[in-house]
Amino acid sequence: MTHARAEMQPAPGHKCPQCGSDCCYRFGKNGRFLSCTGYDVPPAAVEPEGHDGVYLLYKAKGKARPKIIPKDGADKLGWKSLTKKDQAAFQQLSDAMPERCKYAAPIDAEGDPILPKVTDIVCPIDGEQMQLRTGRFGPFLSSPNYPDVKFVLNLDPRKGFIKLPKTPPIPLEKQECPKCKAPLYLRDGKRGLWLGCSTFPKCRARPSMKDFDPKRKEALQKAWDKHQADNPAPEIRTRDGRLLTDEDKYVPQIIGEVEQGG
Ligand SMILES: [Zn+2]
Ligand SMILES: [Zn+2]
Repeated sequence: MTHARAEMQPAPGHKCPQCGSDCCYRFGKNGRFLSCTGYDVPPAAVEPEGHDGVYLLYKAKGKARPKIIPKDGADKLGWKSLTKKDQAAFQQLSDAMPERCKYAAPIDAEGDPILPKVTDIVCPIDGEQMQLRTGRFGPFLSSPNYPDVKFVLNLDPRKGFIKLPKTPPIPLEKQECPKCKAPLYLRDGKRGLWLGCSTFPKCRARPSMKDFDPKRKEALQKAWDKHQADNPAPEIRTRDGRLLTDEDKYVPQIIGEVEQGG
């Protein structure tokens, strides 16, 4: 979700569950969403040395410099046009301004937030029960500590079962795709190892390993076994301890809605 500064509508009755400020609606790529008014940190007035008049200093985003814009909204001041002393003072001022609140939630037709739902699946990273959320690419499961805990499980968009994590493919740098010359990937599938183009789905070439000499096949198998031992796919379990496999095509059970305070 992106926060566009330009358009904003009030969202009466909605308080931010993270900081308690009022919420508002903003507009992103996928339409209206609920956002915190604490995302906008009010600017501070400054008078940079060597420049006429009063300027507004906006808190820096991440590692960028704070923005210094004339009150009449003309072009912003270049950071290098400031004296060293002002640079230090303005950076300090920006650092001391309150942090943006990044709370944002998708909304339903009534403008109410769509709350994540608690499921029976345990996050393999932090052991918390995973939550069902909706993102740009459809539904997915994540830890309640998402996005600090980045691990997610995607769901089949039509049937809703969990797509279990897989060991990533091995890029074979010296082996090029017969169709597009990109490197090939070695993957493991139901019928054993197979080669696919690294640019899939752009190129769908799947060169056969049938004619490889046995020694080469053996070397690839060895490489895969080592790679798999080095990069194990995390095991996914339900809260009852059941280990899920691909054959299960397990659809996560919804246990309840996430309570939002504030
Ligand atoms: Zn907030
Ligand atoms: Zn290719």
